[in-house]
Amino acid sequence: MKNRIMLLIVLTVAIMSACKNEKKMDNPFFAEYSTPFQVPPFDLIDTSHYMPAFTEGIKQHDAEIASITANADEPTFENTILPFDKSGKVLKRVSKVFFNITEAHTNDQLQKIAEKVSPILSKHNDDIAMNAKLFARIKAIFDKRAGLKLDAQQLRVVEKYYRDFERQGANLPKEQQDQLRKINEDLSMLNLKFGDNLLAETNKNFKLVIESNADLDGLPDDVVSAASEAAEKAGLKGKWVFTLAKPSLIPFLQYSKKRELREKIYRGYFMRGNNGNVNDNKTILSDIVRLRAEKAKLLGYENIAAYIIDENMAKTPAAVDAFLNKLMVAALPVAKAELAEMQKIADAEGAKYKLQSWDWWYYSEKLRKQKYDLDENELKPYFSLENVRNGMFAVAGKLYGITFTKVTNLPVYQKDVETFEVKEADGSHLGVLYLDYYPRAEKRGGAWCTDFQSAGWENDKKVDPVISMVCNFTPPTGNVPALLNWDETSTLFHEFGHALHGLFTQGKYNRTAGNVPQDYVELPSQVMENWAGEPEVLKMYAKHYKTGEVIPDKLIEKIVNSGLFNQGFVTVEYLAASILDLDYHKLAVPAKVDPIAFEKASMAKAGLIDEILPRYRSTYFAHIFSGGYAAGYYVYIWAAVLDADAFDYFKQSGNIFNPELAGKFRKYCLAESGDDEGMIQYKKFRGQEPSLDPLLIRRGLK
Ligand SMILES: [Zn+2]
Repeated sequence: MKNRIMLLIVLTVAIMSACKNEKKMDNPFFAEYSTPFQVPPFDLIDTSHYMPAFTEGIKQHDAEIASITANADEPTFENTILPFDKSGKVLKRVSKVFFNITEAHTNDQLQKIAEKVSPILSKHNDDIAMNAKLFARIKAIFDKRAGLKLDAQQLRVVEKYYRDFERQGANLPKEQQDQLRKINEDLSMLNLKFGDNLLAETNKNFKLVIESNADLDGLPDDVVSAASEAAEKAGLKGKWVFTLAKPSLIPFLQYSKKRELREKIYRGYFMRGNNGNVNDNKTILSDIVRLRAEKAKLLGYENIAAYIIDENMAKTPAAVDAFLNKLMVAALPVAKAELAEMQKIADAEGAKYKLQSWDWWYYSEKLRKQKYDLDENELKPYFSLENVRNGMFAVAGKLYGITFTKVTNLPVYQKDVETFEVKEADGSHLGVLYLDYYPRAEKRGGAWCTDFQSAGWENDKKVDPVISMVCNFTPPTGNVPALLNWDETSTLFHEFGHALHGLFTQGKYNRTAGNVPQDYVELPSQVMENWAGEPEVLKMYAKHYKTGEVIPDKLIEKIVNSGLFNQGFVTVEYLAASILDLDYHKLAVPAKVDPIAFEKASMAKAGLIDEILPRYRSTYFAHIFSGGYAAGYYVYIWAAVLDADAFDYFKQSGNIFNPELAGKFRKYCLAESGDDEGMIQYKKFRGQEPSLDPLLIRRGLK
């Protein structure tokens, strides 16, 4: 009885305060989620909750930082670094959901909120980066860090935060800070302009219009009908239109027997941004290069590549240079041999010309048919989505002992999304995995892995991760389940590798837990692709969706062999672009560059042959001039060296599921990946620096 009264009083108080704060209580972002495993309560989240939650999140974050800077006590790890590291919880909570949903399940209202909130958030971040009082406290701790009896992780966190501020100019005198801010503003405008020009050059300024049937010679039916539809859309009914978008361009280059048309469309492609029209990118990129060099100088670096790579595993531009050149030396002869093989085919067909860059796709397709013929339709029945997914779960189980149990009581943001509870070998909870497989109009293209909650620590308690993988795979049709092609199968394993990284991440501080350099990011993901294509593993999961028959050896052999197709070309065109990127960003001020002459000299130095263009030429190299990959286009192949070397370690041990190596890989390269520099973590697993050989061998370059 007494208890009931107590309960009543408590309830009344709760209801009263609920009335008072009605608006706040309704907004699911204002409180810890009370769902199972604390996943976002998608069933309770309404579009109207986002903006108030952003506003409140920023307000709380500002207040948290103000209370750190208002502290009259001497700055310490506990009163400054720790609260700063844990600050912004509400803002993070709403941001995670909002930005993941705008990628995976967006609508006009969400897009509008995104446009509204993006500048507000970027101002909020700038305010923190320029907060002189906050920086002064962090600097005070940094300066006396050696005497503070901090453990290794605390020390690293202090150093990371100090460097974040320093790298954004916090140590500069006011006048130079203003210069830096002006450079950043100018750069962001130029980056946008570069991208806008490229968009116009790709989608508007060029199209190949075909008017006669004869000019369609060689093109497959589906390519022709797509071109006919494109023509109709362009108001050119009865004709055929090809554009510079890859799904239109590449099949044309592969199949068109009309060499002069192949040249015409390829010229359209490789002249983008270099046509002397209003969308020309030469002056813009020259300005970008100069401003970046000025920024590096202001911040005390020799060039912008040195500034950027300083944070990466590679550490210095010289190390990247040497790395890329070594690979180039290995790949060039293979590309030349591929060219010679193709020339032989052309000669045998009586072509009577020396192959040029616009011939590569056409003859490599012939070579592929001759040497590696792999019919996707023959493969697909063995790769139902369910079998592939169970295969990757089984691989993770064999490596790490973890299990995946489907759960149906968690809220999802779209009905097709599946959820799994991930458990350790001893049955304890590890995290939650969301899987979102199929294309929708509301989803952007591609495949990615993200999280709704990163693994972390809060008040000495571990916070469990909630990870999400989003893909755009071929959906099921009628009574045929979703059947994946080889590329999709590798993609699922790839994203799953990112997911495992997120699930296993340990570390007490947000600044370092799971936080790895750009040239490390793709190690956890790419390494999983090795297991996907291993014959022993294929036999585990690649089973015919109707009969359950295990994939025949003949098909396994084709999958393995096809991995060698055109690798000389693929590697060389990629390396050429990486070298071009690095060369631009090694320039010191004053750097007035003529992009065409600069590119020519850079490529000649790299030894590039005329028949291959860099994967991106200067005037359409969006990764480096409008995206975030300046002096960083090399990272994909850097990580490929690591993943090939890591997998080779398993293979050399005679057991691709070697539990001791799996344990070390999990601990050093996944769980503690942010604990120390990338190369140090890798060497803790591997016992030595990675070798280039496994990658060269995998690509048939050695
Ligand atoms: Zn990836």
